[in-house]
Amino acid sequence: MDKKLHIVGGGMAGSEAAWQAANMGVQVVIHEMRPEIETFAHQTGKLGEMVCSNSFRSDDDEQNAVGLLHWEMRAANGLIMAMADRCRLPAGGALAVDRESFSDFVTNTLMDHPNVSVEPGEIRDLPEDGHWIIATGPLTSSALGTAIQAETGAERLAFFDAIAPIVYAESIDMDVAWLQSRYDKGETEEEQKAYLNCPMTKDQYEAFIDALLAAEKTEFHDGETAGYFDGCLPIEVMAERGRETLRHGPMKPVGLTNSHKPEEKAYAVVQLRRDNTLGTLYNIVGFQTKMKYGAQTDVFRMIPGLEHASFARLGGIHRNTFLNSPTLLDDQMRLKSKPNIRFAGQVTGVEGYVESAAMGLLAGRLAAAEILGIHLDTAPQDSAMGALIHHITGGAEAKTFQPMNVNFGLFRPVDGLKGGRRGRKDRYKAYTDRAKSEFSQWLKGQDE
Ligand SMILES: Cc1cc2nc3c(=O)[nH]c(=O)nc-3n(C[C@H](O)[C@H](O)[C@H](O)COP(=O)(O)OP(=O)(O)OC[C@H]3O[C@@H](n4cnc5c(N)ncnc54)[C@H](O)[C@@H]3O)c2cc1C
Repeated sequence: MDKKLHIVGGGMAGSEAAWQAANMGVQVVIHEMRPEIETFAHQTGKLGEMVCSNSFRSDDDEQNAVGLLHWEMRAANGLIMAMADRCRLPAGGALAVDRESFSDFVTNTLMDHPNVSVEPGEIRDLPEDGHWIIATGPLTSSALGTAIQAETGAERLAFFDAIAPIVYAESIDMDVAWLQSRYDKGETEEEQKAYLNCPMTKDQYEAFIDALLAAEKTEFHDGETAGYFDGCLPIEVMAERGRETLRHGPMKPVGLTNSHKPEEKAYAVVQLRRDNTLGTLYNIVGFQTKMKYGAQTDVFRMIPGLEHASFARLGGIHRNTFLNSPTLLDDQMRLKSKPNIRFAGQVTGVEGYVESAAMGLLAGRLAAAEILGIHLDTAPQDSAMGALIHHITGGAEAKTFQPMNVNFGLFRPVDGLKGGRRGRKDRYKAYTDRAKSEFSQWLKGQDE
């Protein structure tokens, strides 16, 4: 087999993957369709273009999961972090950059690398042989999207995300909420208690609808058609269709008995469903939304039981091409049905520049190791990179899989630490200490 590594897409993930593999001594070809074929969001033909915000978010590697991912990428000699540090702008605790010089540096550094070449043009089909990483991002070209669907089945490649907010389980008030599936459906007790229910009185429901209608919403970007369908309408659009619509839809109060107040019949019920096998995250069922982030926290904290909710991720609906990775990819990021092809970046179902670059870093190392005939385990589960890859290739619920940011809810608990808000600082420090140690070990193993 050809020993070259072909990478489709020179965005955050593709650029990082190329850098990592090239530094391991592998010849890399980046196939990038811009500027010949444009997307509605990119403005240039450069590699590593930031399509919207100029921020890589928090740089705090002790108390923030994104900051921890920065740390791991720096430790692994990551290109995206090195270039971001070089182009850094003052932004408090965040890592913000001058976007023009950032993508110039990414492009020039890769072009100057003796092991990297760039072949302009769109890849329209899934290659049959050779080593490939597909890192075509949320705006994967439609020809390639069609080819991926032909391989995976249409239902396993989505073109829009419909993200319902995700809440940390520990922040839900269980004196108000209770566990029960509608009509106690399910064979096992676990299934009969698969949902967390938050009850509302008539007054609470009316106030909630008023707040939904009044909340500030985001617009779709130019060229990003509002192609969402009735199955995943934003809740505020449902509320606009009629004040009772939600009460007959995702908030219907039927088949449920409040275990705290069995005699009281709720007027409406908000349901949350477990989002990961660890049981640390719950998504609010059917609550995809285009409300602005600030408005979302205000409105969702009106739900009884969620007054003090901490959100691992807020809701949204975007144009976003992504795989059902839990069913399609192995932990080496290979397509199970065509293992010569890896996927990386946002198309794997992670969300954000940093997460996408991190998945590129991992895919680049794994692919290069394979080409060189070296066995390399995927990143350890207790690192930030490992927690993400573990989530998308196995830990997430496949049926309801939606793109995910890195967050501490993806991490396995550290024994002996206090739960709840009070213990948060110590807990996050313990997660980040453990992650740094595990990740350093993983890197060290590759140097030996
Ligand atoms: C409108 C919009 C706004 C966003 N805003 C933010 C934000 O503010 N902050 C944030 O963290 N994330 C944001 N994102 C998500 C962001 O796109 C990702 O975080 C990140 O860019 C993903 O990196 P990636 O490498 O997976 O994809 P990209 O960076 O998009 O790179 C994919 C590359 O593949 C190329 N390509 C696509 N198809 C083909 C093909 N068939 N052949 C060859 N090349 C191809 C594309 O031209 C592109 O260069 C936004 C996404 C969109 C769509």
